[in-house]
Amino acid sequence: MGEPARALDVMDVAPPFTTHDAAAMQIRFAGVAAPDMLRELLTGELAGRIASVSSYGAESAVLLHMVASIDKDVPVIFTNTQKMFGETLAYRDELSERLGLTDLRVFRPDPRVLGLKDATGMRWSYDPDGCCEIRKVEPLRRALAPFDAWISGRKGFQAGTRTALPRFEEDEGRLKINPLADWSKDQLDAYFAEHDLPRHPLEAQGYLSIGCAPCTSKVKPGEDPRAGRWRGWDKVECGIHVSALPGDDPVF
Ligand code: SF4
Repeated sequence: MGEPARALDVMDVAPPFTTHDAAAMQIRFAGVAAPDMLRELLTGELAGRIASVSSYGAESAVLLHMVASIDKDVPVIFTNTQKMFGETLAYRDELSERLGLTDLRVFRPDPRVLGLKDATGMRWSYDPDGCCEIRKVEPLRRALAPFDAWISGRKGFQAGTRTALPRFEEDEGRLKINPLADWSKDQLDAYFAEHDLPRHPLEAQGYLSIGCAPCTSKVKPGEDPRAGRWRGWDKVECGIHVSALPGDDPVF
């Protein structure tokens, strides 16, 4: 009598989410308001599998408030490039405290990599793409390793490159959710007012999109909100978001 067939151990290495999944989510939640969509996902299939990524920039409070209203324990990832405005760090602490967020996770660039590739701290001035890679992209990749999905605060109105922004994308096998993709500036302002949320202290000075200090400038009347980022460079995004949209640039 022959040996019984041995069940082979098979490791499932398929990514948790595909572009097909993202497209299906897009259809499933069409017309569903952002807070309702988030509630269903955070309390359902993505519970314990998702993080919110925040730059604590000009409009970050809206999404963080939505998330905190559903579950204050959802991990919030903040990448401190070590080139941030001091005002952003203070705002991060104030807002997190106000919202009662319990799991703020701060990630920084690897000091060994900084020593090798940006010893002077001036890489932003001659190679901003390389600087973003070591100060933003790599730390975020590390931060997201335990998660299958993440929430981003991008909005379609912020720049011409974001107008076709979908609510769901696939990103390195993860589901990336942009709950505010179709929100207007007026909607965001109304949400701030309704929930009495604090503004980033630099917004009143004309900084409408706030990133690292060396690469952020004030926005002039009539410009896209993100026009003040990497001014003078042919660069509009930092590489954290790689959109599936044809023609869209890597973005942050
Ligand atoms: S935004 Fe500027 S300082 Fe910040 S990581 Fe990118 S290039 Fe470097």
